Amino acid sequence: MKLFYSLLFVALVANLQAQSVHTHLPDRAIDFPHVPGYLTLKSDLHMHSVFSDGDVWPNIRVQEAQRDGLDIVSMTEHLEYLPHKEDIPLPDRNRAHEIATNTATNSDLIVIRGSEITRSMPPGHANAIFIQDANKLVMEDAAAVFKEAHDQGAFIFWNHPNWTPQALDGIAKLSPMHHELIAKGYLNGIEVVNEDTYSEEALQIAIDNNLTIMGTSDIHGLVDWQFDVPSGGHRPITLIFARERSEASIKEALFAGRTVVWFNETLIGRINNLEPLIMASVIIENPAVYQRLGSGKTTQVLEVKFTNNSDASFMLFNKSGYTFHANDDLIMLEPHSVTTLQVKTLTAQTAIDLKFTVLNAVTAPDTHPDLVWHVKVAEQKNE
Ligand code: ZN
Repeated sequence: MKLFYSLLFVALVANLQAQSVHTHLPDRAIDFPHVPGYLTLKSDLHMHSVFSDGDVWPNIRVQEAQRDGLDIVSMTEHLEYLPHKEDIPLPDRNRAHEIATNTATNSDLIVIRGSEITRSMPPGHANAIFIQDANKLVMEDAAAVFKEAHDQGAFIFWNHPNWTPQALDGIAKLSPMHHELIAKGYLNGIEVVNEDTYSEEALQIAIDNNLTIMGTSDIHGLVDWQFDVPSGGHRPITLIFARERSEASIKEALFAGRTVVWFNETLIGRINNLEPLIMASVIIENPAVYQRLGSGKTTQVLEVKFTNNSDASFMLFNKSGYTFHANDDLIMLEPHSVTTLQVKTLTAQTAIDLKFTVLNAVTAPDTHPDLVWHVKVAEQKNE
């Protein structure tokens, strides 16, 4: 019997080791490094519960967010669309927020008060977050709701402007009403990513109108099922670069446009937000060392180690003059991994610059950033 348990133990350990070697699934909690001067906070600011048209009680939203390691969420129940109201009367539109806040007590999760303004186009749907009282947003006139939310201090963003029920061609377009809302400061951001869609046109609208780039899950069912988390999927999130972990800092960062959206394999944001995030995520080991042969001779093949300490993968396309000893022009950096690149420098160098286009990062439609990694070379001892 003792032998049986010993063998079982050995088998279990072997199995665990095999799993840790063979699976590339990262921990469930989403992980991105902080950037110089700012905390990188993970948010999902568009979620529903049974208090509007979602399928779960608000506590489940909080527990999902905690499993995903999020820092900030908001329950953005529809103000005007309440399909469960026969079963769940809603005398108080702040109730979902209160339940979520209570569930999040004694955890690091910040729950921000929000609501979804739900109108036909224009203006379509918009989330108002950092509001004071959702009940005061229940009113007839659409323009008046935006003003009231703004007067409550809200950050307001246009939801899924590419949503086919409201844009049959799937193209996000500004109407005169949107231009007016933007001019008044009543529209501060735009969803470039919503649930499982990405809108290049929304990204261009964000750039042209200085709106904050947003990406959200708009989850109604379960995050695990919708985004296939058990198979390594993840919900879309907005990374917010905030000075501190507080509501005031998060709000300041959103109004200042300091965001990057992580959607499937893609990172979307302005270059001044994307570049620090990528440079904090992909670190090279300095100094790099020239490959040495068994004979003691030193080659001109430089081994450069890239550590990716984020949950995103990176697809790098070579833009330097060098060729590589074991790769073509395309380099994949898997999440939380170390990748060694063998660079043929032809002559012995003391430092080199490696320039890559980050193909899965997007700063504008059809635009991917070119970034440079500076590599120092270890002094060679030639015997
Ligand atoms: Zn929604």
